[in-house]
Amino acid sequence: MDTPDWHARAASLIPDGRIWINGQRVAAADGETFAKLSPINGAHLAHIARGRAADVDLAVASSRQAFERGSWVGQPPAARKKVLLRFAEKLSAHREELALLESLDMGKPIRYSLSVDVGSSARCIAWYAEAIDKVYDEIAPTGRESLALVTREAMGVIGVIVPWNYPMIMAAWKLGPALAAGNSVVMKPSEKSPLTALRMAELAVEAGLPEGVFNVVPGFGHEAGEALALHMDVDAVGFTGSTRVGRKMLEYAGRSNLKRVYNELGGKSANLVFADFDDLERAAVAAAGSMFFNQGESCNAPSRLLVEASIADEFAARVTAEAANYLPGDPLDAKTVMGALVDDGQLKTVLGYIESGKQEGARCLAGGEQARSETGGYYVAPTVFDGVRNDMRIAREEIFGPVLSILRFDTEEEAIAIANSSSYGLQAGLWTDNLSRAHRVARALRAGTVHVNQYDEDDMTVPFGGYKQSGNGRDKSLHALEKYTELKTTWIRLG
Ligand code: NAD
Repeated sequence: MDTPDWHARAASLIPDGRIWINGQRVAAADGETFAKLSPINGAHLAHIARGRAADVDLAVASSRQAFERGSWVGQPPAARKKVLLRFAEKLSAHREELALLESLDMGKPIRYSLSVDVGSSARCIAWYAEAIDKVYDEIAPTGRESLALVTREAMGVIGVIVPWNYPMIMAAWKLGPALAAGNSVVMKPSEKSPLTALRMAELAVEAGLPEGVFNVVPGFGHEAGEALALHMDVDAVGFTGSTRVGRKMLEYAGRSNLKRVYNELGGKSANLVFADFDDLERAAVAAAGSMFFNQGESCNAPSRLLVEASIADEFAARVTAEAANYLPGDPLDAKTVMGALVDDGQLKTVLGYIESGKQEGARCLAGGEQARSETGGYYVAPTVFDGVRNDMRIAREEIFGPVLSILRFDTEEEAIAIANSSSYGLQAGLWTDNLSRAHRVARALRAGTVHVNQYDEDDMTVPFGGYKQSGNGRDKSLHALEKYTELKTTWIRLG
Protein backbone atom coordinates (compact mmCIF):
# COMPACT_ATOMS: atom_id res chain seq x y z
CA MET A 1 0.00 0.00 0.00
CA ASP A 2 1.26 3.53 -0.79
CA THR A 3 2.29 5.67 2.15
CA PRO A 4 -0.16 8.56 2.35
CA ASP A 5 1.14 12.03 1.62
CA TRP A 6 0.33 13.39 5.05
CA HIS A 7 1.24 16.97 4.19
CA ALA A 8 -1.15 16.95 1.22
CA ARG A 9 -3.89 15.54 3.40
CA ALA A 10 -3.20 18.07 6.12
CA ALA A 11 -3.42 20.89 3.58
CA SER A 12 -6.92 19.84 2.56
CA LEU A 13 -8.16 19.24 6.11
CA ILE A 14 -10.43 21.81 7.74
CA PRO A 15 -10.77 20.70 11.39
CA ASP A 16 -14.07 21.54 13.07
CA GLY A 17 -13.45 23.06 16.50
CA ARG A 18 -17.07 23.67 17.44
CA ILE A 19 -18.72 22.29 20.58
CA TRP A 20 -20.61 18.98 20.40
CA ILE A 21 -23.84 18.95 22.38
CA ASN A 22 -26.82 16.68 21.94
CA GLY A 23 -25.61 15.27 18.65
CA GLN A 24 -24.94 18.66 17.07
CA ARG A 25 -22.07 21.00 16.37
CA VAL A 26 -22.69 24.41 17.91
CA ALA A 27 -20.72 27.61 18.44
CA ALA A 28 -19.99 28.77 21.98
CA ALA A 29 -22.95 30.60 23.55
CA ASP A 30 -21.07 33.90 23.28
CA GLY A 31 -19.66 33.03 19.84
CA GLU A 32 -16.05 33.27 20.99
CA THR A 33 -13.26 31.13 19.56
CA PHE A 34 -9.55 30.82 20.13
CA ALA A 35 -6.79 30.00 17.65
CA LYS A 36 -5.15 26.60 17.82
CA LEU A 37 -1.63 26.54 16.38
CA SER A 38 0.07 23.38 15.21
CA PRO A 39 3.21 22.44 17.16
CA ILE A 40 4.69 21.10 13.94
CA ASN A 41 5.35 24.55 12.47
CA GLY A 42 3.53 27.08 14.65
CA ALA A 43 0.99 27.71 11.87
CA HIS A 44 -2.72 28.29 12.41
CA LEU A 45 -4.55 24.96 12.56
CA ALA A 46 -8.13 25.64 13.63
CA HIS A 47 -10.56 27.97 15.33
CA ILE A 48 -11.76 26.30 18.51
CA ALA A 49 -14.98 27.26 20.29
CA ARG A 50 -14.13 28.82 23.64
CA GLY A 51 -16.55 26.94 25.87
CA ARG A 52 -17.44 28.60 29.16
CA ALA A 53 -19.89 28.06 32.03
CA ALA A 54 -22.96 28.70 29.84
CA ASP A 55 -21.86 26.00 27.40
CA VAL A 56 -21.02 23.57 30.19
CA ASP A 57 -24.50 24.18 31.66
CA LEU A 58 -26.09 23.25 28.32
CA ALA A 59 -23.90 20.15 27.96
CA VAL A 60 -24.56 18.93 31.51
CA ALA A 61 -28.31 19.52 31.11
CA SER A 62 -28.28 17.54 27.86
CA SER A 63 -26.34 14.69 29.47
CA ARG A 64 -28.61 14.69 32.52
CA GLN A 65 -31.72 14.53 30.32
CA ALA A 66 -30.23 11.65 28.34
CA PHE A 67 -29.54 9.83 31.60
CA GLU A 68 -33.03 10.49 33.00
CA ARG A 69 -34.68 9.38 29.75
CA GLY A 70 -32.86 6.09 30.12
CA SER A 71 -32.07 5.98 26.42
CA TRP A 72 -28.62 4.59 27.26
CA VAL A 73 -28.58 3.44 30.88
CA GLY A 74 -31.93 1.74 30.29
CA GLN A 75 -30.51 -0.51 27.59
CA PRO A 76 -29.38 -3.99 28.64
CA PRO A 77 -25.60 -4.33 28.90
CA ALA A 78 -25.56 -6.55 25.80
CA ALA A 79 -27.18 -3.75 23.79
CA ARG A 80 -24.72 -1.15 25.09
CA LYS A 81 -21.97 -3.54 24.16
CA LYS A 82 -23.12 -3.65 20.54
CA VAL A 83 -23.14 0.14 20.23
CA LEU A 84 -19.72 0.51 21.85
CA LEU A 85 -18.26 -2.17 19.60
CA ARG A 86 -19.59 -0.23 16.60
CA PHE A 87 -18.02 2.90 18.08
CA ALA A 88 -14.67 1.09 18.31
CA GLU A 89 -15.05 -0.05 14.70
CA LYS A 90 -15.74 3.53 13.62
CA LEU A 91 -12.56 4.69 15.32
CA SER A 92 -10.59 2.03 13.47
CA ALA A 93 -12.30 2.84 10.17
CA HIS A 94 -11.34 6.53 10.58
CA ARG A 95 -7.85 5.61 11.65
CA GLU A 96 -5.95 7.81 9.19
CA GLU A 97 -8.13 10.87 9.71
CA LEU A 98 -7.91 10.61 13.51
CA ALA A 99 -4.18 9.95 13.46
CA LEU A 100 -3.58 13.00 11.29
CA LEU A 101 -5.68 15.21 13.57
CA GLU A 102 -3.78 13.89 16.60
CA SER A 103 -0.36 14.57 15.08
CA LEU A 104 -1.32 18.02 13.82
CA ASP A 105 -2.86 18.95 17.15
CA MET A 106 -0.12 17.87 19.55
CA GLY A 107 2.96 17.11 17.44
CA LYS A 108 3.48 13.38 17.88
CA PRO A 109 4.90 11.35 14.98
CA ILE A 110 2.24 10.12 12.59
CA ARG A 111 3.62 6.57 12.76
CA TYR A 112 2.69 6.40 16.45
CA SER A 113 -0.65 8.21 16.11
CA LEU A 114 -1.50 5.49 13.61
CA SER A 115 0.03 2.47 15.30
CA VAL A 116 -0.48 3.38 18.95
CA ASP A 117 -2.99 6.11 19.70
CA VAL A 118 -5.93 5.27 17.46
CA GLY A 119 -5.53 1.51 17.85
CA SER A 120 -5.23 1.63 21.64
CA SER A 121 -8.24 3.89 21.91
CA ALA A 122 -10.39 1.61 19.77
CA ARG A 123 -9.22 -1.46 21.70
CA CYS A 124 -10.02 0.23 25.00
CA ILE A 125 -13.61 1.03 23.97
CA ALA A 126 -14.04 -2.51 22.60
CA TRP A 127 -12.58 -4.03 25.80
CA TYR A 128 -15.15 -2.31 28.04
CA ALA A 129 -17.88 -3.14 25.53
CA GLU A 130 -16.93 -6.81 25.77
CA ALA A 131 -16.63 -6.68 29.54
CA ILE A 132 -19.89 -5.04 30.48
CA ASP A 133 -22.19 -8.00 29.86
CA LYS A 134 -19.87 -10.29 31.82
CA VAL A 135 -19.65 -8.54 35.17
CA TYR A 136 -22.00 -9.81 37.85
CA ASP A 137 -23.32 -8.23 41.02
CA GLU A 138 -23.23 -9.93 44.43
CA ILE A 139 -25.49 -11.61 46.93
CA ALA A 140 -24.08 -11.14 50.40
CA PRO A 141 -23.68 -14.23 52.64
CA THR A 142 -26.33 -13.13 55.17
CA GLY A 143 -28.73 -15.42 57.07
CA ARG A 144 -31.77 -17.36 55.78
CA GLU A 145 -34.24 -14.70 56.85
CA SER A 146 -33.10 -12.10 54.41
CA LEU A 147 -31.50 -11.46 51.07
CA ALA A 148 -28.91 -8.72 50.66
CA LEU A 149 -28.11 -7.68 47.10
CA VAL A 150 -24.96 -5.69 46.48
CA THR A 151 -25.30 -4.05 43.09
CA ARG A 152 -23.44 -1.47 41.05
CA GLU A 153 -25.45 1.28 39.38
CA ALA A 154 -24.47 3.95 36.88
CA MET A 155 -23.83 7.24 38.66
CA GLY A 156 -25.36 9.70 36.22
CA VAL A 157 -23.33 12.47 34.61
CA ILE A 158 -19.54 12.09 34.60
CA GLY A 159 -17.32 15.08 33.91
CA VAL A 160 -14.14 14.05 32.11
CA ILE A 161 -11.18 16.43 31.95
CA VAL A 162 -8.14 15.21 30.04
CA PRO A 163 -4.65 16.39 29.05
CA TRP A 164 -2.97 16.77 25.68
CA ASN A 165 -0.20 14.17 25.70
CA TYR A 166 -2.32 11.20 24.58
CA PRO A 167 -5.61 12.97 23.77
CA MET A 168 -7.49 10.00 22.33
CA ILE A 169 -6.14 7.36 24.69
CA MET A 170 -6.81 9.43 27.80
CA ALA A 171 -10.33 10.10 26.52
CA ALA A 172 -10.90 6.40 25.79
CA TRP A 173 -9.65 5.30 29.23
CA LYS A 174 -12.46 7.36 30.81
CA LEU A 175 -15.11 6.89 28.14
CA GLY A 176 -14.82 3.11 27.98
CA PRO A 177 -15.80 2.33 31.58
CA ALA A 178 -18.04 5.38 32.09
CA LEU A 179 -20.19 4.71 29.00
CA ALA A 180 -20.18 0.93 29.34
CA ALA A 181 -21.59 1.32 32.86
CA GLY A 182 -24.45 3.41 31.45
CA ASN A 183 -23.42 6.93 32.41
CA SER A 184 -23.58 10.09 30.36
CA VAL A 185 -20.30 11.96 29.85
CA VAL A 186 -19.41 15.61 29.40
CA MET A 187 -15.80 15.86 28.29
CA LYS A 188 -13.49 18.87 28.41
CA PRO A 189 -10.45 18.05 26.28
CA SER A 190 -7.25 20.05 26.65
CA GLU A 191 -7.29 23.43 24.89
CA LYS A 192 -4.01 22.24 23.36
CA SER A 193 -5.50 19.14 21.67
CA PRO A 194 -9.31 19.24 21.36
CA LEU A 195 -9.77 17.96 17.80
CA THR A 196 -9.86 14.19 18.16
CA ALA A 197 -12.23 14.22 21.17
CA LEU A 198 -14.73 16.24 19.13
CA ARG A 199 -14.46 13.84 16.22
CA MET A 200 -14.77 10.83 18.53
CA ALA A 201 -18.08 12.21 19.83
CA GLU A 202 -19.44 12.52 16.29
CA LEU A 203 -18.41 8.96 15.51
CA ALA A 204 -20.02 7.69 18.71
CA VAL A 205 -23.39 9.06 17.64
CA GLU A 206 -22.91 7.60 14.15
CA ALA A 207 -22.32 4.28 15.89
CA GLY A 208 -25.69 4.54 17.65
CA LEU A 209 -24.88 6.21 20.97
CA PRO A 210 -28.03 8.20 21.85
CA GLU A 211 -27.66 11.96 21.53
CA GLY A 212 -26.64 13.75 24.70
CA VAL A 213 -24.92 10.71 26.22
CA PHE A 214 -21.50 12.03 25.20
CA ASN A 215 -21.02 15.79 24.89
CA VAL A 216 -17.73 17.60 24.36
CA VAL A 217 -17.03 21.20 25.38
CA PRO A 218 -13.61 22.46 24.31
CA GLY A 219 -12.16 25.46 26.09
CA PHE A 220 -9.66 26.54 28.72
CA GLY A 221 -9.14 24.87 32.05
CA HIS A 222 -9.95 27.91 34.18
CA GLU A 223 -13.17 28.45 32.22
CA ALA A 224 -14.84 25.30 30.83
CA GLY A 225 -12.80 22.94 33.05
CA GLU A 226 -13.56 24.81 36.25
CA ALA A 227 -17.25 25.14 35.36
CA LEU A 228 -17.51 21.40 34.78
CA ALA A 229 -15.67 20.43 37.96
CA LEU A 230 -17.76 22.88 40.03
CA HIS A 231 -21.07 21.86 38.46
CA MET A 232 -23.74 20.84 40.95
CA ASP A 233 -25.27 18.32 38.56
CA VAL A 234 -22.07 16.40 37.77
CA ASP A 235 -21.77 13.23 39.87
CA ALA A 236 -18.09 12.46 39.41
CA VAL A 237 -15.04 13.87 37.72
CA GLY A 238 -12.51 11.65 36.00
CA PHE A 239 -9.45 13.87 35.76
CA THR A 240 -6.09 13.24 34.13
CA GLY A 241 -3.55 16.03 34.24
CA SER A 242 -1.04 17.74 36.47
CA THR A 243 -0.84 17.39 40.22
CA ARG A 244 -1.30 21.17 40.48
CA VAL A 245 -4.71 21.01 38.77
CA GLY A 246 -5.58 17.73 40.52
CA ARG A 247 -5.49 19.66 43.81
CA LYS A 248 -7.99 22.10 42.36
CA MET A 249 -10.30 19.23 41.43
CA LEU A 250 -10.54 18.27 45.09
CA GLU A 251 -11.21 21.90 46.03
CA TYR A 252 -13.94 22.21 43.39
CA ALA A 253 -15.63 19.09 44.75
CA GLY A 254 -15.45 20.51 48.28
CA ARG A 255 -16.87 23.83 47.15
CA SER A 256 -19.73 22.25 45.21
CA ASN A 257 -21.55 18.93 45.64
CA LEU A 258 -18.75 16.69 46.97
CA LYS A 259 -18.73 14.89 43.66
CA ARG A 260 -16.38 11.92 43.45
CA VAL A 261 -12.98 12.95 42.10
CA TYR A 262 -10.62 10.47 40.48
CA ASN A 263 -7.23 12.01 39.90
CA GLU A 264 -4.62 10.55 37.51
CA LEU A 265 -1.70 12.94 37.95
CA GLY A 266 1.95 13.56 37.25
CA GLY A 267 4.99 11.37 37.68
CA LYS A 268 8.74 11.31 38.08
CA SER A 269 9.29 7.61 37.72
CA ALA A 270 12.51 5.94 38.82
CA ASN A 271 14.20 3.22 36.77
CA LEU A 272 16.75 1.23 38.81
CA VAL A 273 19.56 -0.65 37.03
CA PHE A 274 21.54 -3.08 39.18
CA ALA A 275 25.02 -4.25 38.21
CA ASP A 276 23.92 -7.90 38.37
CA PHE A 277 21.69 -7.47 35.31
CA ASP A 278 23.35 -9.27 32.46
CA ASP A 279 21.89 -7.64 29.36
CA LEU A 280 22.79 -3.99 29.88
CA GLU A 281 22.25 -3.20 26.22
CA ARG A 282 18.59 -4.23 26.44
CA ALA A 283 18.18 -2.18 29.62
CA ALA A 284 19.75 0.87 27.91
CA VAL A 285 17.54 0.54 24.83
CA ALA A 286 14.46 0.40 27.06
CA ALA A 287 15.62 3.23 29.33
CA ALA A 288 16.03 5.57 26.36
CA GLY A 289 13.01 4.28 24.43
CA SER A 290 10.56 4.67 27.31
CA MET A 291 11.99 8.08 28.16
CA PHE A 292 11.96 9.62 24.70
CA PHE A 293 8.77 8.03 23.36
CA ASN A 294 6.10 10.72 22.82
CA GLN A 295 8.83 13.41 23.13
CA GLY A 296 9.16 12.55 26.81
CA GLU A 297 5.60 13.82 27.31
CA SER A 298 4.42 10.70 29.11
CA CYS A 299 3.24 10.69 32.71
CA ASN A 300 5.06 7.38 33.30
CA ALA A 301 8.31 8.30 31.52
CA PRO A 302 11.22 6.84 33.54
CA SER A 303 12.88 10.23 33.84
CA ARG A 304 15.06 9.31 36.84
CA LEU A 305 17.56 6.67 35.82
CA LEU A 306 19.21 5.23 38.94
CA VAL A 307 22.31 3.20 38.08
CA GLU A 308 24.58 1.19 40.38
CA ALA A 309 27.87 3.09 40.58
CA SER A 310 30.08 0.22 39.37
CA ILE A 311 28.40 0.19 35.93
CA ALA A 312 27.25 3.82 35.75
CA ASP A 313 29.86 5.15 33.29
CA GLU A 314 29.32 2.29 30.88
CA PHE A 315 25.55 2.48 31.18
CA ALA A 316 25.47 6.26 30.72
CA ALA A 317 27.48 5.82 27.50
CA ARG A 318 25.03 3.21 26.20
CA VAL A 319 22.00 5.37 26.98
CA THR A 320 23.64 8.40 25.41
CA ALA A 321 24.30 6.41 22.24
CA GLU A 322 20.66 5.30 22.20
CA ALA A 323 19.44 8.89 22.60
CA ALA A 324 20.94 9.65 19.19
CA ASN A 325 18.22 7.46 17.66
CA TYR A 326 15.55 9.93 18.83
CA LEU A 327 16.54 13.10 17.04
CA PRO A 328 13.41 15.14 16.33
CA GLY A 329 12.01 15.12 12.82
CA ASP A 330 8.91 16.17 10.89
CA PRO A 331 5.96 14.50 12.67
CA LEU A 332 4.21 13.98 9.33
CA ASP A 333 7.14 12.00 7.95
CA ALA A 334 6.37 8.31 8.50
CA LYS A 335 10.02 7.65 9.49
CA THR A 336 10.09 10.17 12.35
CA VAL A 337 10.22 8.73 15.88
CA MET A 338 10.45 11.98 17.88
CA GLY A 339 8.09 14.83 17.07
CA ALA A 340 7.37 18.32 18.39
CA LEU A 341 6.54 19.45 21.91
CA VAL A 342 2.94 20.53 22.24
CA ASP A 343 3.41 24.31 22.27
CA ASP A 344 5.68 27.24 22.85
CA GLY A 345 4.94 27.22 26.58
CA GLN A 346 6.04 23.60 26.94
CA LEU A 347 9.16 24.32 24.89
CA LYS A 348 10.10 27.16 27.25
CA THR A 349 9.40 24.99 30.31
CA VAL A 350 11.62 22.17 29.05
CA LEU A 351 14.44 24.50 28.00
CA GLY A 352 14.17 26.15 31.43
CA TYR A 353 14.70 22.79 33.15
CA ILE A 354 17.67 22.02 30.89
CA GLU A 355 19.19 25.36 31.88
CA SER A 356 18.59 24.66 35.58
CA GLY A 357 20.28 21.24 35.22
CA LYS A 358 23.35 22.89 33.70
CA GLN A 359 23.40 25.63 36.34
CA GLU A 360 23.08 23.16 39.21
CA GLY A 361 26.12 21.29 37.94
CA ALA A 362 24.75 18.23 36.12
CA ARG A 363 26.80 17.06 33.11
CA CYS A 364 24.92 17.25 29.82
CA LEU A 365 25.92 14.15 27.80
CA ALA A 366 23.49 14.64 24.92
CA GLY A 367 21.09 17.24 23.55
CA GLY A 368 20.50 20.13 25.89
CA GLU A 369 19.12 22.45 23.25
CA GLN A 370 16.25 23.38 20.99
CA ALA A 371 16.13 21.73 17.56
CA ARG A 372 14.54 22.46 14.17
CA SER A 373 13.77 26.05 15.18
CA GLU A 374 13.79 27.01 11.47
CA THR A 375 10.47 25.14 11.08
CA GLY A 376 8.62 27.47 13.45
CA GLY A 377 7.68 24.39 15.50
CA TYR A 378 8.67 23.37 19.04
CA TYR A 379 11.41 20.74 19.10
CA VAL A 380 13.99 19.75 21.70
CA ALA A 381 16.92 17.37 21.17
CA PRO A 382 16.84 14.24 23.38
CA THR A 383 18.78 15.26 26.46
CA VAL A 384 20.77 13.13 28.91
CA PHE A 385 22.18 14.53 32.15
CA ASP A 386 24.67 12.55 34.21
CA GLY A 387 25.96 13.37 37.67
CA VAL A 388 22.52 14.43 38.81
CA ARG A 389 22.04 14.87 42.56
CA ASN A 390 18.74 14.02 44.14
CA ASP A 391 18.22 17.60 45.32
CA MET A 392 18.43 19.12 41.84
CA ARG A 393 15.23 20.37 40.23
CA ILE A 394 15.72 18.04 37.26
CA ALA A 395 15.69 15.10 39.71
CA ARG A 396 12.64 16.22 41.65
CA GLU A 397 10.19 17.98 39.32
CA GLU A 398 8.21 16.57 36.42
CA ILE A 399 9.70 18.09 33.25
CA PHE A 400 7.36 16.49 30.71
CA GLY A 401 9.85 16.64 27.88
CA PRO A 402 12.80 14.62 26.51
CA VAL A 403 15.15 15.08 29.47
CA LEU A 404 16.68 12.10 31.29
CA SER A 405 18.51 12.44 34.62
CA ILE A 406 21.07 9.81 35.65
CA LEU A 407 21.70 9.37 39.38
CA ARG A 408 24.10 6.85 40.92
CA PHE A 409 23.70 4.55 43.91
CA ASP A 410 25.93 2.15 45.84
CA THR A 411 23.48 -0.14 47.64
CA GLU A 412 19.99 -1.56 47.15
CA GLU A 413 18.77 0.36 50.21
CA GLU A 414 20.10 3.60 48.81
CA ALA A 415 18.45 2.96 45.43
CA ILE A 416 15.07 2.32 47.08
CA ALA A 417 15.43 5.39 49.29
CA ILE A 418 16.20 7.66 46.31
CA ALA A 419 13.38 6.14 44.23
CA ASN A 420 10.85 6.61 47.03
CA SER A 421 12.00 10.11 47.97
CA SER A 422 9.73 11.60 45.29
CA SER A 423 6.32 13.12 46.01
CA TYR A 424 5.14 11.15 42.98
CA GLY A 425 4.54 7.41 42.77
CA LEU A 426 3.19 6.57 39.34
CA GLN A 427 5.52 3.88 38.03
CA ALA A 428 8.97 2.44 38.60
CA GLY A 429 11.31 0.02 36.87
CA LEU A 430 14.07 -2.26 38.03
CA TRP A 431 16.58 -4.43 36.23
CA THR A 432 18.20 -7.35 38.01
CA ASP A 433 18.96 -11.03 37.45
CA ASN A 434 18.54 -11.75 41.15
CA LEU A 435 15.03 -13.12 41.71
CA SER A 436 14.91 -12.34 45.42
CA ARG A 437 16.07 -8.80 44.78
CA ALA A 438 13.44 -8.38 42.05
CA HIS A 439 10.62 -9.25 44.48
CA ARG A 440 12.15 -7.41 47.41
CA VAL A 441 12.68 -4.16 45.52
CA ALA A 442 9.36 -4.36 43.67
CA ARG A 443 7.60 -4.59 47.04
CA ALA A 444 9.57 -1.72 48.49
CA LEU A 445 8.92 0.72 45.63
CA ARG A 446 6.00 3.05 46.31
CA ALA A 447 4.46 3.13 42.84
CA GLY A 448 1.22 2.02 41.20
CA THR A 449 3.07 -0.10 38.64
CA VAL A 450 6.52 -1.68 38.93
CA HIS A 451 8.23 -2.99 35.81
CA VAL A 452 10.82 -5.73 36.21
CA ASN A 453 13.40 -6.29 33.43
CA GLN A 454 11.26 -4.33 30.93
CA TYR A 455 9.51 -0.97 31.01
CA ASP A 456 6.86 -1.11 28.32
CA GLU A 457 4.44 -3.91 29.15
CA ASP A 458 0.89 -2.62 28.90
CA ASP A 459 -2.50 -4.23 28.63
CA MET A 460 -6.14 -3.28 29.14
CA THR A 461 -6.42 -5.97 31.82
CA VAL A 462 -4.22 -4.15 34.36
CA PRO A 463 -4.91 -0.95 36.31
CA PHE A 464 -2.92 2.21 35.56
CA GLY A 465 -2.53 4.86 38.25
CA GLY A 466 -0.35 6.13 41.01
CA TYR A 467 0.54 6.25 44.67
CA LYS A 468 1.04 9.48 46.58
CA GLN A 469 0.68 12.71 44.59
CA SER A 470 0.37 10.79 41.32
CA GLY A 471 -3.30 10.44 42.12
CA ASN A 472 -5.94 8.16 43.58
CA GLY A 473 -7.82 6.77 40.59
CA ARG A 474 -7.05 3.78 38.42
CA ASP A 475 -7.72 3.79 34.70
CA LYS A 476 -8.04 0.56 32.67
CA SER A 477 -9.02 -2.94 33.82
CA LEU A 478 -12.30 -3.91 35.48
CA HIS A 479 -11.31 -1.74 38.47
CA ALA A 480 -12.07 1.39 36.45
CA LEU A 481 -15.75 0.41 36.38
CA GLU A 482 -15.79 0.96 40.14
CA LYS A 483 -15.08 4.66 39.62
CA TYR A 484 -18.17 5.29 37.56
CA THR A 485 -20.68 3.20 39.48
CA GLU A 486 -22.32 3.55 42.89
CA LEU A 487 -22.45 0.56 45.20
CA LYS A 488 -25.98 -0.16 46.43
CA THR A 489 -27.15 -2.57 49.11
CA THR A 490 -30.73 -3.80 48.92
CA TRP A 491 -32.08 -5.76 51.91
CA ILE A 492 -35.07 -8.00 51.30
CA ARG A 493 -36.87 -9.62 54.23
CA LEU A 494 -37.76 -13.23 53.45
CA GLY A 495 -39.12 -14.50 56.75
P1 NAD B 1 -3.02 20.18 33.14
O1 NAD B 1 -3.29 19.78 34.54
O2 NAD B 1 -2.46 21.51 32.88
O3 NAD B 1 -4.37 20.11 32.28
C1 NAD B 1 -5.16 18.92 32.23
C2 NAD B 1 -6.59 19.31 31.89
O4 NAD B 1 -7.10 20.11 32.96
C3 NAD B 1 -6.73 20.16 30.63
O5 NAD B 1 -7.91 19.79 29.96
C4 NAD B 1 -6.84 21.56 31.18
O6 NAD B 1 -7.54 22.46 30.34
C5 NAD B 1 -7.62 21.32 32.45
N1 NAD B 1 -7.44 22.37 33.45
C6 NAD B 1 -6.37 23.18 33.63
N2 NAD B 1 -6.61 24.05 34.65
C7 NAD B 1 -7.84 23.78 35.11
C8 NAD B 1 -8.65 24.32 36.14
N3 NAD B 1 -8.23 25.35 36.89
N4 NAD B 1 -9.86 23.79 36.35
C9 NAD B 1 -10.30 22.75 35.61
N5 NAD B 1 -9.60 22.21 34.60
C10 NAD B 1 -8.37 22.70 34.36
O7 NAD B 1 -2.12 19.03 32.53
P2 NAD B 1 -1.55 18.93 31.05
O8 NAD B 1 -0.42 19.87 30.92
O9 NAD B 1 -2.67 18.98 30.07
O10 NAD B 1 -1.03 17.42 31.04
C11 NAD B 1 0.19 17.04 31.55
C12 NAD B 1 0.04 16.40 32.92
O11 NAD B 1 -0.84 15.28 32.85
C13 NAD B 1 1.36 15.85 33.42
O12 NAD B 1 1.52 16.19 34.77
C14 NAD B 1 1.19 14.34 33.25
O13 NAD B 1 2.00 13.57 34.10
C15 NAD B 1 -0.26 14.17 33.53
N6 NAD B 1 -0.76 12.90 33.00
C16 NAD B 1 -1.06 11.90 33.87
C17 NAD B 1 -1.51 10.66 33.40
C18 NAD B 1 -1.87 9.54 34.34
O14 NAD B 1 -2.50 8.58 33.91
N7 NAD B 1 -1.50 9.61 35.62
C19 NAD B 1 -1.65 10.48 32.02
C20 NAD B 1 -1.33 11.52 31.16
C21 NAD B 1 -0.89 12.74 31.66
